[in-house]
Formats: sequence, structure tokens, C-alpha cells
Amino acid sequence: MPPSTPLSRLEPWQDPKARPYIQIDHVSKSYEGFPALNNFSLSIYKKEFFCLLGGSGCGKTTLLRVLAGFETPTSGHVWIDGINMEDKAPYERPVNMMFQSYALFPHMSVEQNVAFGLKQEPVSKAERKSRVESVLELVQMQSYAKRKPHQLSGGQRQRVALARSLVKQPKLLLLDEPLAALDKTLRERTQFELVNIQERVGITFIMVTHDQEEAMTMATRIGVMEAGRLRQVGTPNEIYEYPNSMMVANFIGSINIFEGFVTEDQADHVLIRSSDLGCDLLINHSSAAPVGAHVHVAIRPEKIAISKTPLEQDYNWAKGKVRDIGYLGDVSIFHIVLKSGKIVLATVPNLVRVAERPVTWEDEVYLCWRPENGIVLTS
Ligand code: ATP
Repeated sequence: MPPSTPLSRLEPWQDPKARPYIQIDHVSKSYEGFPALNNFSLSIYKKEFFCLLGGSGCGKTTLLRVLAGFETPTSGHVWIDGINMEDKAPYERPVNMMFQSYALFPHMSVEQNVAFGLKQEPVSKAERKSRVESVLELVQMQSYAKRKPHQLSGGQRQRVALARSLVKQPKLLLLDEPLAALDKTLRERTQFELVNIQERVGITFIMVTHDQEEAMTMATRIGVMEAGRLRQVGTPNEIYEYPNSMMVANFIGSINIFEGFVTEDQADHVLIRSSDLGCDLLINHSSAAPVGAHVHVAIRPEKIAISKTPLEQDYNWAKGKVRDIGYLGDVSIFHIVLKSGKIVLATVPNLVRVAERPVTWEDEVYLCWRPENGIVLTS
């Protein structure tokens, strides 16, 4: 996007005048009294790539099924493009759903599978042919048009399923774990392909995943769900850097959590005493918690620096011993045990080969972090 593109187009959720494209308004869905969705509200904007993230059974698929019209909410409403979907059958909605299993017909060729999506549509033979050709080109599968699904790789089958979903030109595409069947390398490549295709066709995508890295890579915004409720909605950066609760902090990436209580609360900083550490935590922003409140402070492992030299600072440091080192190739994760018994994780980029690294097992080390890197969590 050019730098002159207004924020309201890049991030419409920041614009109070922008009209949501999808409005999920206090939707609940219960199965025999069990609330799979619990008073769930969310607005999604046109052309967003929205990812729903959450543990198994938190209600992600149920929400997609409610949007597609396969499930009727117990209460609440869904609006798409300003129209209440209450009385709309699945085929009357401008929505298509791509399932995890892809559900391709084994006896049909790639082009027949894709054309099948248009069976119910009042389109001429010529238009059907041209639409099938153009979506196969979009997903770069035109040269495989005559093959049957069993003659394709997992990634190619995934692209055919995507083509079949796109050929109907839905306004909203729902994707339920679309990359789950792919191996790691193909999955990473396909993530970028899918985002490129979504940008080219300009359709709103809502994707369910429980792979947080996938959501971080692909989404314009992420909704983190737990037990049928939305715990936080934000851009990948907001969710990662500013989780609003212990649940979200722990769910996204690795994180260190220190327990303590507020000893000073000023407009520009907070001090927190934690028995996990030998010194107070200084955070250079105010918190919602008053003096005396019990809080948790979250610090990402990559924000913690390790050194063998004693530190001369009053706050935000700890002394410990290296207990374990996890080698991940590009980075290593150090597990450092403090005097209190607390284990702190610190991620260090592998700038030199393992044999040459300055800190190793059983070394006494000093950890420190900057005041802006602590996040105070009150729930
Ligand atoms: P996963 O990541 O494991 O696919 P999910 O977040 O998609 O999980 P859902 O499939 O939406 O979760 O299910 C939410 C809850 O609703 C689960 O506890 C599930 O057992 C329950 N549930 C879903 N469908 C039905 C159904 N048809 N009948 C009864 N319970 C159901």
C-alpha cells in the first residue's frame, strides 16, 4: 500500500465512522445446555484477514458454522453487509466455507471439482468455463486441470479447495484450519500465497487456526477465544506486545510471568515488588492497578538480556544460574534458575557458533530488561 493510503482503509477498526462488514451481535449457541458460544460480539471489516485463535473446544468452528448458516444461534444476531442473516439459509448467504478436509470429489478432475461450486448458480456454460479457468490461474493450478485429487500433493489439493471456494465469488470466505494437512515448509509457503490471493481478490477472510504463529503471520487482526468468549481482539503486534490478560499472554508465544504487588503507581511509572526477584520491577507506564494490588508482570524472553558481568542498577535485574539451553538454530533459549527457584526464559540470537558462545550451562549470569518491556496484568 502507498504511504498516502488513509488509516481508515488500512485499519478500518480504528475509524469510528467505518461500517463493519460483519457484525456478530451478542451471539450465544448452546448444545444441550452447554454454551459453545457465550454472548459473543465482534465486528469485522471488508477485506480483513481475520484469524480466530484459541484452544481446542473454545467455539471457533461453531462461530464459523453460525456465520455460514449451518447452525442457528440460541440468541443474538449475525449481520453481513448490513443484512440480518436470521432467515437466510446457507445458500442464500454471500458466504463460502472451506473445510479442513477439503472435501474434494475423488472421481472428478480438478476443473470439475472447481466447476461443481457453480452448479447451483445461473451461469452460462461459457461463463462457467472462464470463471473456472481464471480461479485455477489465480491459485496456479491451471496445468493440473485434468488431474484427479489423488494425483495431487497435499498443497495442490489445498489450492484446488481454495479455487472451488473462490469460484462462487463469495463476499466472505470462512476457512477452518485450511493448512492443517500440510507439512511445516509447505505450510509456511502456503501462508504467504493465501495472503497474496486474499489481497488480490479483495474478499474478507475469516480463518480458524490453533497455530498462533500462523495467525501472527497472516492476520490483519486476531481474536483470541476462550470458552465461547472473546478474550482479546487486536493486530498481531498488539496481541503479542500488549496481551490484556494472563490467558492471552500465556497463549501467544513464550512469556515469563512474575507475581507481585504494586508499591508505587505514578502517571509515568509503576513499581512492583516480586518475591520471585531480588529487586523491584520498574515499568515506565501507569497501570490500572492501585498501590497494594496483586498483579502479574509479563516479560517476553527475547526482551531479556544475559551477561556475566554484575549489573549496577536498582531495578529490573536478576541473578541466576544457567540450567538448560535449548538450541533452535537461529536462536537459543536459556533457562535460568533464580535464587527464589523461579525459572526465567531468555532468548538469545545465535550470532556465533554454539561452541564459541560466551555463556553456557552452570554459568552464573545476570539478567536485565528495559522498563518499557514489562506488561502489568491484572486479570
Ligand atoms: P477445535 O480446535 O478442537 O476444532 P473449536 O474451538 O473449533 O475446537 P467447536 O468445534 O466450536 O470448538 O466446539 C465448541 C464446543 O461445542 C465443544 O465443547 C464441542 O464439544 C461442542 N460442540 C460442537 N458441536 C457440537 C454438537 N453438534 N453437539 C454438541 N456439542 C457440540
